Amino acid sequence: MQHTSLALVAACVFSLFCANGEELRLKTRVIDPALEATAAFKLRAAGANPRSVSGRRWHWLVQFDNANPDLKAWEDRGAKILASVPVNGFIISVPDSMSWNDLPLVYRSPLDAGDKMSPQVLSADLMAEGQSQRLVIVHFHKDVEAWEADAILEAEGVALLKNGSLEAEDRLAEITIEQMSALTLWDEVEYVFPAPQGMKTGEMYLGCGGVISGGYEVAMLAASFGEGWDGPGRGRASISYSFGNLGSRVDPAQTQAEARRAMAEWSKAVAVTFTETTARNASRNIDILFATGDHGDPFPFRSGSTVLGHSFYPANPNPEPLAGDIHINDAWGWSIGGQWDVFSVILH
Ligand SMILES: [Zn+2]
Repeated sequence: MQHTSLALVAACVFSLFCANGEELRLKTRVIDPALEATAAFKLRAAGANPRSVSGRRWHWLVQFDNANPDLKAWEDRGAKILASVPVNGFIISVPDSMSWNDLPLVYRSPLDAGDKMSPQVLSADLMAEGQSQRLVIVHFHKDVEAWEADAILEAEGVALLKNGSLEAEDRLAEITIEQMSALTLWDEVEYVFPAPQGMKTGEMYLGCGGVISGGYEVAMLAASFGEGWDGPGRGRASISYSFGNLGSRVDPAQTQAEARRAMAEWSKAVAVTFTETTARNASRNIDILFATGDHGDPFPFRSGSTVLGHSFYPANPNPEPLAGDIHINDAWGWSIGGQWDVFSVILH
C-alpha cells in the first residue's frame, strides 16, 4: 500500500533544504518550473478543465518562492493548503472566485490526469498477465466530501468494495484501466494506487498516517524528498535515536530492544550508523515515542483513528528537533510478535 512505501521512504531517504526554482518531484515525473513556466501560468483554458462535481473549488499544484511562504495570506482568501509536494510545493484547494493577484508563486498548474495514476498500477507485469481489472484505492483530496467522492464513482460506474481499514478520503474498488483514466480526469481525485489483494476479502490493512513535512502530509502523488541527511551523493549518514514515553502495552525495555533490532535491520540495507542517545532534543536524532491524542505536534491521534503512527522527514523541511521522529499511536494493542507488532511498526 502506498502509505507503506511512503513511510519507508521517510525512514531511508532524507531531504535537503532547497531554495526557490527547485524541481517539483512527483512519482510520475519531475517538473522543472523554469521550463514549464509559460504553460504553468496559463489559466485553466475552457475545454481543458477537468471535471468536477461542484465546480466551486479546484485543486492546484503550486510552488512558492521560498520554503516558508505566508500560507495565512492564502487561507485568508479562501484557499485550503492540503498537502506538501517537494520542493516548496503544495496541493491547494482554491475557490473558483479567488483572486490570485499579488500572491507570490514560482509555479502553478492544475494536476495532470497522468500524474494521478500510480506507475505501479500500470506495471508491465500486470499488463503481461492481461488482467482487465485492478484492485485499487481511489484517494480523494482531503477537502472532498464523502457524497462528492461517491457521486464521482457512481458516475464512472465503479462498484465499491467494503473494507474497515479505509481512511475517510479513500475508496476501494476493482476497476478497468479505462475507468481509472476517467477517474483521474475528475478534479476531486488526487491519486489512484494498487491495493493489497487481501483488502478485497475484508482483511484489515492499516497504513501509517503518511509522511509529514513542513506541517503537512506529503501528497500521495509526490515522490520522495531529495538528497537527504547524508548530503548530495554521499550515501551514508550517522544518526542517533532516543526514546520518549514507550506506551502502556509492552514492557519499555522490550520495546527498546525491538527498536534496536529495527535500527540494526536498516543498517544492514543502507549505510546509516545509528547510535542510541538520551539527548532527545538533539539534531539528527530520531525520537521514538508512543502517544494518544494530542502529543505536541499538529497531528493528534484522534479516537477511532486508523492511524498506527507517523514519522517526520528530517530537517529540512521539518524543524529540529521534530525532524526524523517516530510517533506511534498507543491506542492499538501493541505487542511483541502479535498483530500490532512493535518491531514491524518501528522498522516501517
Ligand atoms: Zn506525532
